[in-house]
Amino acid sequence: MKYEIVLGLETHVELSTKTKIFCGCTTSFKGEPNTHCCPICIGLPGTMPKLNEEVVNFAIMAGLATNCKIAEFSKMDRKNYVYPDLPKAYQISQHDKPLCYDGSISLSNGRVIGIERIHIEEDAGKLIHQAGKTFVDYNRGGVPLIEIVTRPDFRDVEEAVEYLELLQLNMRYINVSDCKMQEGSLRCDVNVSVRLKGEEKLGTRTEIKNMNSFNNIRKAVNFEKERQIEILENGGKVQQETLRFDVATGVTSPMRSKEDAHDYRYFKEPDLGLIYVERQKVEEIKKSLPELAHNKLLRYVEEFKLPVLDAKLLVEYKAVADYFEKSVENVKDVNSYKNCCNLILSLIFSKFETEAEKENFKILVSEKEMAKLLNLLETKKIRNNMAKKALEEMLETGKKVEEVISFEDLKEITKEELENFCKDAVKNNEKAVKDFLNGKTKAIKALVGHVMKLSKGRADANLAEKILEELINK
Ligand code: ADP
Ligand code: MG
Ligand code: ZN
Repeated sequence: MKYEIVLGLETHVELSTKTKIFCGCTTSFKGEPNTHCCPICIGLPGTMPKLNEEVVNFAIMAGLATNCKIAEFSKMDRKNYVYPDLPKAYQISQHDKPLCYDGSISLSNGRVIGIERIHIEEDAGKLIHQAGKTFVDYNRGGVPLIEIVTRPDFRDVEEAVEYLELLQLNMRYINVSDCKMQEGSLRCDVNVSVRLKGEEKLGTRTEIKNMNSFNNIRKAVNFEKERQIEILENGGKVQQETLRFDVATGVTSPMRSKEDAHDYRYFKEPDLGLIYVERQKVEEIKKSLPELAHNKLLRYVEEFKLPVLDAKLLVEYKAVADYFEKSVENVKDVNSYKNCCNLILSLIFSKFETEAEKENFKILVSEKEMAKLLNLLETKKIRNNMAKKALEEMLETGKKVEEVISFEDLKEITKEELENFCKDAVKNNEKAVKDFLNGKTKAIKALVGHVMKLSKGRADANLAEKILEELINK
């Protein structure tokens, strides 16, 4: 392939502050259209916006989580355009002095994606097209957004997808946004250009607006790449323009020719003062940030000796990671970390059907009960099978460890007892014994199962198998 693809992302993340950016209206999405509005957020003349400090704090958190510098002074600007989703005909955004700048996110292949800036702005209303008419809902108008702009540093669409996944994870960890692409709290514009490999100069880019899933990003970028290469191969020039991606046809098509900054006639928002962020405040926010997913992952591998893939699954949802950490708080044995991880990833995860369920991680087994179970495993009072069975029951019923594992269960099984169970198994499973003797070695599992059942899971399966073989081959 003699062409190389270059991508840059502009990502809008909706902040989950309680109130909107310039007024006291709720940011909640539930509720009838046009009920979360006031004269300020529908932009009536004569109203005065007041900047919500929580928005600034959330944006600083996002900036710190992406290694940005935080500007001591920044300001809000008017971006002028006329469209029915914005009744005052300008959006209050940040133009040349964004709140955060010069950050980065590192990818797993070692490449570092530069973040040019993160600025704060207000969202616009929502147009709803229905039965040949267009309605507008201003509930979303004035909901705070941050726009995170990367440098044109991606060389592959999978790098862009990984960046978005990391961004999403980090924003959720620091609790500034739920970042749900399908619900629009994470929206992404993808800038695409191609150039000959080895060429330094960037090619002319097009911008695909409002992508709402990773898969559509993949499809749109691949389509756009082929389209641009074909133009260049035929001696043409790529037009800089804004495109939309049609999911049904898989094709990009022009929305409008690209505006330049001067088309928006940006100027400082006269109704708002400068934003001054004290250095001490930045330090305080920095201190208050939780450990980010990426660092957690490294620590899980290092401290808990978990395999990278397992650790990745645990840190993917903060609630899961929190549960894991609390459960193993007093554990000293490395095997217990692994046991806990296995129980979560196998038994507990299989209870969840949706991503949202994993994210909320509401289960009937407290960390304390999990710790008790791990301790029984660690001290070899119970075996894996029994731990699984017990956990299964606890997850269903919310019972405590001592309610599902009896004193009987904890008694160590004697050699004699085990031999008796094995004899019983051989006696009552003629077919399996025959099969085994005929070379179907797997048939022994049925016998082991019988022993496990009789021993209520206390038996050592490997030892039982050995004894069974001896009995059969006698
Ligand atoms: P605008 O705000 O007009 O869209 P910016 O200069 O802010 O323009 O750039 C927006 C995005 O486009 C950035 O993410 C940047 O990395 C990306 N970009 C700029 N030039 C190119 C290019 N030649 N190829 C791919 N992406 C690009
Ligand atoms: Mg843009
Ligand atoms: Zn309002």
